[in-house]
Amino acid sequence: MEIRTLGIVGGGTMGAGIAQVALQAGYGVLLRDMSEGILEVARGKVAGGLAKGVEKGKFSAGDREAMLGRLKTTTAMADLAPADFVVEAATENFEIKRGLFLELDRFNRPEVVLASNTSSISITKIAAVTKRPDRVVGMHFFNPVPLMALVEVIRGLQTSDATATATLELAKRLGKTPVEANDFPGFIANRILVPMVNEAIYALMEGVGTAEAIDSVMRLGANHPMGPLALADLIGLDVCLAVLKVLHEELGDDKYRPCPLLVKMVDAGFLGRKTGRGFHTY
Ligand code: NAD
Repeated sequence: MEIRTLGIVGGGTMGAGIAQVALQAGYGVLLRDMSEGILEVARGKVAGGLAKGVEKGKFSAGDREAMLGRLKTTTAMADLAPADFVVEAATENFEIKRGLFLELDRFNRPEVVLASNTSSISITKIAAVTKRPDRVVGMHFFNPVPLMALVEVIRGLQTSDATATATLELAKRLGKTPVEANDFPGFIANRILVPMVNEAIYALMEGVGTAEAIDSVMRLGANHPMGPLALADLIGLDVCLAVLKVLHEELGDDKYRPCPLLVKMVDAGFLGRKTGRGFHTY
């Protein structure tokens, strides 16, 4: 089936970014979120992101207008029915995603693939909510979506070859490099990245080095573009903690236990860039 229109559920950080790259790649986008106010903010983010594309000379101001013309926003799930492929990028909570996949399964044609951008929730478990578990897949974009090349494509236990192939193909048409992963907690990227971030927080808590020293060592000594504590601030400390809890509970190994300093920072509301304070101040 040819994909012309992408349905996106959730217009936050990730959903707005996915909408932008889809518009740039020529797709129509139906974006659904909870309120008109949230959708206005999401439209503003997409418009701002596309304006940067014009500034960088990637496309013209006229192209940008045409792209924005292909973006339709709605608060009604039923309005996503015409979508040929759906990416869910709502809040990282299984109960929320469960409700959304039940509705998507009800409103969207049976042949349509339903993908989740989840960072850590089992694709197999999400798929089992629907009557089309073979057409449910993980499509894990990275933040900021317009800049990051990778998309992890995750097969749940029941994901069909045709679904995986369609998802890999879509990721390429969005200008991304897809890499396949199997459905285990944290998939590949977060399984490796988030425990490294956690170890950096332990090093800070134990006084091995200051936040600046830890980040400098990893930038200059390991050639990472950004230190692990600055990365935690970018991802959001609440998101890092949520992923660690999933790794700890589902893999049952204490090596994934969240650092007490991370828990304390989240309790204090120091969530990183989005609140202006994390391991660094913004
Ligand atoms: P966010 O909080 O910025 O956005 C989530 C959006 O979902 C909000 O706009 C919220 O209103 C909306 N939402 C909540 N319930 C909804 C519902 N029932 N129907 C429609 N919309 C609903 O979060 P985010 O950072 O964009 O993350 C979204 C997803 O992407 C999560 O699953 C997250 O794990 C994953 N993810 C995040 C990152 C990241 O770096 N932030 C990276 C990769 C994947």
